[in-house]
Amino acid sequence: MIDHRRLRVALLGAGAVGSQVADLLAKHADELAERAGATLELAGIAVRDLDAPRDVPLPRQLLTTDAETLILGSDIVIELMGGIEPARTHILTALNSGADVVTANKALLATHGTDIFDAADQVGASVYYEAAVAGAIPIIRPLRDSLAGDRVHRIMGIVNGTTNYILDRMDAEGAEMADVLSEAQRLGYAEADPTADVEGYDAAQKAAILASLAFHTTVPLSAVHREGITGVSKGMMDAARHAGYVIKLLAVCERLVGRGDGDEPREAISVRVYPALIRRDHPLASVHGVNNAVFVQAEAAGNLMFYGAGAGGVQTASAVLGDLVSAARRHIAGGAGVGESTRANLPAVDIGQVVTRYQITLELDDRPGVLARVAGILSDGRVSIATLEQTVPDETDVAGSARLVIGTHKALEQDLSETVSRLAADDVVERVVSVLRVEGD
Ligand code: NAP
Repeated sequence: MIDHRRLRVALLGAGAVGSQVADLLAKHADELAERAGATLELAGIAVRDLDAPRDVPLPRQLLTTDAETLILGSDIVIELMGGIEPARTHILTALNSGADVVTANKALLATHGTDIFDAADQVGASVYYEAAVAGAIPIIRPLRDSLAGDRVHRIMGIVNGTTNYILDRMDAEGAEMADVLSEAQRLGYAEADPTADVEGYDAAQKAAILASLAFHTTVPLSAVHREGITGVSKGMMDAARHAGYVIKLLAVCERLVGRGDGDEPREAISVRVYPALIRRDHPLASVHGVNNAVFVQAEAAGNLMFYGAGAGGVQTASAVLGDLVSAARRHIAGGAGVGESTRANLPAVDIGQVVTRYQITLELDDRPGVLARVAGILSDGRVSIATLEQTVPDETDVAGSARLVIGTHKALEQDLSETVSRLAADDVVERVVSVLRVEGD
């Protein structure tokens, strides 16, 4: 039996995740004590409004609006308030007082992670954040610990459940985005203001965190190229299906190996979020609904996929409690915490330097010679054609026009975008219907 040590735990926030953490901590107190090697005493729960309704009943005497006093009397602080302030200040106060910190706050880590990790290093404390990316799915610890002896080449993640739900329903039902978005809002899968999800901001924060861990490099949010899903139409989804693909919002973190000025091998990274085509037989294509998945390709381990619930109060609480047990064990063991590994410090390249495959859909004037003209523009732009298909016009096509779907070999993004601009300006091209990257092969 464990009764010799008691660790005081402060919980900041009792919302969707925090209330479930408090509940599970009370329900499984004995088991958690056995695993942690100490009794985990919930010292208090800081909230904004003492009278707000809670998802689960919480002991009234534990609630407080005085977060600072609670933090200063605690060994471990769990931050589940979200947002930047006061979460940032509270975490720094906790670390400076010698407490270890558990947080699920991806927005804070992606923007102020360096300050927080530096503060932890200075006092020898640790910051745990398994729940900050992909909710219940263990992905932080696998990248930080299990794969620490390997070299990660690439990560492709479906890390935003809202956008995956929207794209999945558009694919399965041939639905329009606006209809699916309202349904998602009604079901609580999308916020009233869905910008952070549909414009890719949430996924970009997670991509920055994943890339930092995978490549042992500090990756600021500003280094992440971001595009959302608002430009994805039903027509694009139908065309993708017809060609054997599905469109997913992917967070891609990639190690690039090139040559320096003296021809020595030189490494860099690319971190980007955008809707991309993936083959329907790729493991990520079978990630449906609000689920998340992270596909990791490492030199020795090969391909790994981590899949499950990317959000949800109780699911995310599982990851938070795992971190709490780790934090408690470390706190008992003593000594300095394990800091972030950022020594590789690889430079992040601009999106223009990325090499990938593309699918370009054009509406053309339907007359002899146009194909040769398009092929010439592509070839002049160093974009080589892998597949070419003239498709049946749909109701949005202009009479007398033909629709051409071009699959390219790998091309430099900069070359591709210049070529697309030249195509758009050419007489034979009536409309550039879409340009999508092809990922995953
Ligand atoms: P939430 O439901 O909005 O809850 C936030 C809680 O923090 C509320 O209890 C609120 O108090 C409290 N709070 C906010 N500002 C405060 C302040 N200034 N002072 C004191 N208390 C304050 O948030 P959540 O969904 O649980 O998310 C918490 C964190 O987990 C976020 O960083 C989020 O990104 C992350 N996360 C959430 C999920 C998920 O599925 N929900 C998944 C992964 C990660 P009141 O209740 O009194 O207003």
